[in-house]
Parts: sequence; C-alpha cells; structure tokens
Amino acid sequence: MLRTHHCGELRETHQHQSITLAGWVQKVRNKGFLVWVDIRDRYGITQLIFDEERTPADVFKKSLELGREDVIRVSGKVIERESKNPNINTGNIEILVEKLQLLNASKTPPFTIENKTDGGEELRMQYRYLDLRRNPVRENLIFRHKVSLEIRNFLSEAGFIDVETPYLIKSTPEGARDFVVPSRMNSGEFYALPQSPQTFKQLLMVGGFDKYFQIVKCFRDEDLRADRQPEFTQIDCEMSFVEQEDILNQFEALTKHLLKKIKGVLLKAFPRITYAEAMKRFGNDKPDIRFGMEFGELNTLAKNKGFNVFDSQELVVGIAVTGGAAYTRKEIDALIDWVRRPQIGALGMVWVKHNEDGSFKSSVDKFFTSEDLSDWAVTTQSKPGDLILVLAGDAHSTRSQLSALRLEIAERKGLRNPEEFAPLWVTDFPLLEWDEETNRYHAMHHPFTAPKPEHLDLLETEPGKVNANAYDLVLNGNEIGGGSIRIHDAELQQRIFSLLGFSAEEAESQFGFLMKAFQYGAPPHGGIALGLDRLVAILGGSETIRDFIAFPKNNSGRDIMIDAPSALDESQLKELYLKLLPKK
Ligand code: ASP
Repeated sequence: MLRTHHCGELRETHQHQSITLAGWVQKVRNKGFLVWVDIRDRYGITQLIFDEERTPADVFKKSLELGREDVIRVSGKVIERESKNPNINTGNIEILVEKLQLLNASKTPPFTIENKTDGGEELRMQYRYLDLRRNPVRENLIFRHKVSLEIRNFLSEAGFIDVETPYLIKSTPEGARDFVVPSRMNSGEFYALPQSPQTFKQLLMVGGFDKYFQIVKCFRDEDLRADRQPEFTQIDCEMSFVEQEDILNQFEALTKHLLKKIKGVLLKAFPRITYAEAMKRFGNDKPDIRFGMEFGELNTLAKNKGFNVFDSQELVVGIAVTGGAAYTRKEIDALIDWVRRPQIGALGMVWVKHNEDGSFKSSVDKFFTSEDLSDWAVTTQSKPGDLILVLAGDAHSTRSQLSALRLEIAERKGLRNPEEFAPLWVTDFPLLEWDEETNRYHAMHHPFTAPKPEHLDLLETEPGKVNANAYDLVLNGNEIGGGSIRIHDAELQQRIFSLLGFSAEEAESQFGFLMKAFQYGAPPHGGIALGLDRLVAILGGSETIRDFIAFPKNNSGRDIMIDAPSALDESQLKELYLKLLPKK
C-alpha cells in the first residue's frame, strides 16, 4: 500500500508514530514559516503541518507549491495539535511532515470540493468525478450501497435466487418506447433494451426457479418528466405457486425490514385500499396518507340547489383545510389562481369558511343556506376554524385537480415530513385503460397481468369493468413498486392480446415464445418490481433520484460528462446498414 493509514483514522493514541498518508489536497494555509495542508480521502481529512524549523528544507519548499486537488503522499510523525478541531474525527492531531511526494498534480477544479459547493448543477454533472469527491454525494452513494445490500441479504435469506437476464432482447411492453440496438451481424434487425425483465422472470418460473430476484437496469424511452431517468434500477422479483396475498406479505416484510434497519423506524401493518377507493378518497392512485384532507363528495348535497355551475357537472368534491378559516381573501384568491393555472386546469373554485363560532361564510352564500354548508362540513370533515375548498367538473380531471391542490396545501403547511413514513398497498387496479388517442384499450399494468377470476366473463362484453390482481406499493405519495399475479395459461394470454388489439400473427411474432412456454407446464406465478432509485431517495430524505445515482442523465436524457447520445460516423452507420433521414 502507498499508505499506512487512511485520512480519517489517526487519533491521539497514534501520537509519536511514523505514518504515511495519501490523498487529495483539500486546502493550503500558508503563514510564511508554517504551512498547513488538509489532506482528504474517502474516509476523512487529516491536517498536515510543514514547519520551516522542523521540516527538511526541500520538503518545506515543495509544500509551498501545493494546490487544491493535487494527489500527494506524505510521511511524518503524529503529534498533538495545538488548536484542536472538535468537528472532525482527526481534530486532535496533526502530522509533522518529513517526506512529501507529489503523485499527480491537479488543475484548479472548476468548483470547490466542499459540502456546500459553489458549482451549479450543470457544471457538477459535467465534472461528475469531482462532484463524487464531495461528502454529500459520496454519502448518498454509500447509503444506496447499504440499502441494496440489505435488500440482497433479505431476499437471499428468504430463498430468492439472483439471476441475470439479458439486456439485448426484444420488446417487453411496459407502456413506454423501447431503446433499440441495431445488430451488425443480422442486417436490418434490432434488439430492444428491456423496459423490464418481465417476460424473462416469467420464463424463470416456467423453468422452476420458484423465487427470483435481480437488482437490474431497465430502459424506457419516455418523454422525460422531471426526475425521471431513461435508465433506472429496479428490484425485480417473481414467485411461483403464490397468490396476491403472499406477494404483498413478502414485500411488506422487505419494506418493514429496510425501514427498521436503515431508518430505525418500526412500521405497523400497511393499510390496503382499492384503486377505486384511492381515487374517491384522494383523487390519486398513489395517495400520500401522512395527512388527512380526504375528499368529501358533495353531489347529492350541492347539485340542484340553483347553482348552475355545479348542476351540469359530473362531480362536485371538496376538502377541508385545517385552520384555513383564518386565510385572508388574498390568500384564498391566490389558491384559486393556483388551481386555475394551465398545469392544473380548474375553471374556478368555491370556498367556504367554517368560522370558529360554527357559522359559515362562502363564495356561494347566494345559493346555499347555512344548513347546506353545514352538511358540506360534515361530508368534508371540516371543523370550526377550517376552510372548505370545492371543485366541480368531469370526475377524472376534477379528482386530479383536487389531488394536486391537496398535495400543494400539505406541502405549504409542512405536512409532508420526509422523516415520517406512510406506506400502503393499492390493489384491484382495472385491467385495462381506455386510450382516447388510439381509440382502444391498453393494459394498465402490462399485458401479462391476470384478470380477477370472477371478472373473466366480462372480458369481451365489458372490458372496462374488469379488475386485475395488480397492486402498487405506495410510500409518501410515491409509487415505489408495482406488480401483479400473471396469466399462466396460453389461451387466456391469447384472449388478452386480442383484446389489446394484437392480431394473432402479431401476438405470435412478439410473444409466441411466452405462449409456447405456457404450454409446457407453467406454474401459477406473480411478482413485483420496486424502483430502487426512488426508494433510496425517499429513505435518504430527498426528492431527487439524481442525488443517489453515480452518473445520472439530465432532464433531456443526456449524459453531459461523456456527451451521450452522440452521432455515429458514416462507416459505423454503414456497417449497421443504417441510413439517417434528414431532421424534421
Ligand atoms: N414488470 C413490472 C414493471 O416493471 C413489474 C412487475 O409486474 O413485476 O413495472
């Protein structure tokens, strides 16, 4: 080794020992006859002292030339420090340097390698290897390492086998576009990168593996929303001879284990609600249940009372904001403006102050009596001192608008505490989802999801009413996992493909391998995948998954450090039998 100790290791007990350290120059302080240099590595910082009187003259002279981020190796004696630094582990000692070797000089870094750096996001991403030297970034990645190690150990203990599945495959539909890879050896043909290992893990079940897991990269070519990555990591799992209940229990146990081990938080049994209930109570299939403000549906109370705005609408629905009766008109108007922004899209909002004395004052006093409003208060669970906010419109958009408002208010009131963890299961998702654009049904989860057996009869007659044995794991308003019981019967799988608009030939050419496998004794099976990046970010108390990825892509899907994606040269295109069309 080039060193005897690392830079976070030496203490008073090492005094008088001769040691050697290696690392990066964090800081140089030159007092003329004394030079202090902080040397840094992954483990910490140690102070070096070069003293004109006690350090050999050539070494002292060399110390004057050191600059930030130079890589050095020093030997010397551990001595007690005069002014101690209680903020660092090595703060009681320093090294009186006898030998100094410059292992590699550094250019001045484009931003400071400090906990709070002066570098903006763009610059830090461009020089990510320098950013990685900063404590917070390194700590996040070590944290990720710990979480994934816990997951591996837990699943391995539970009998799951880690199996790698291929990356060069053919399309697995998870609702996004595929990234494709041209095949040089098979002209005109392409691999697709997996959107998930879905079909392979099912084939592993046919292959008798019984319990599979993999911490695996998945690739989805989606229009990038904030904080999405085109490649991301899933904890992918599958089990045979199970029912939904078994999978929920197994992965509830994993989540509890992680929260306990990583955060010291003990969780009770996770609540379970159906998709329909989640939409009704929270307007959202991934509700944040750390706080209340549940929806109160007001159709029967608020329609046909002479207020036209409500009468013609499909849904009238409200929430009660604790303490909101104290809001000024200006504050309420600002909330109305907020829901009317194009991103939210409400046309307007009705408000009712539920005063401390139990009386009501509202924006619709002309149309509704105190008794009416008091009924609204019961339905929205408003108490004296609260403010009831009501939206109306078609059920789907009104729910999502009110859900956005609920989250915004909770955010502003500080109710979304990152140190509080509120998981739940959302179950009974619809099997299919109508797509206005293509005018046909899409699989809400993916086409391999099993319909509820009791709904099989509705498949051809009322497909929109068929629910699936599909479930999501939700944590603090984020979907951190989703899965389903699968179809294991070739005939049923064929029926679903045709419902989804695949012709028999298309189904055969894309998924023939799976249906063929199902004819050779496929066991009943099901599984789940959890998003590792998001899970780690939530456990780490952050909203940003990029903070927990060593080399993330930016919001346009670019890696600005290596400059990818990038153009291919003509000869490479030729070799792949590709010709570029002019840009539109
Ligand atoms: N393959 C699914 C996904 O990536 C998860 C699953 O059904 O297990 O969302």
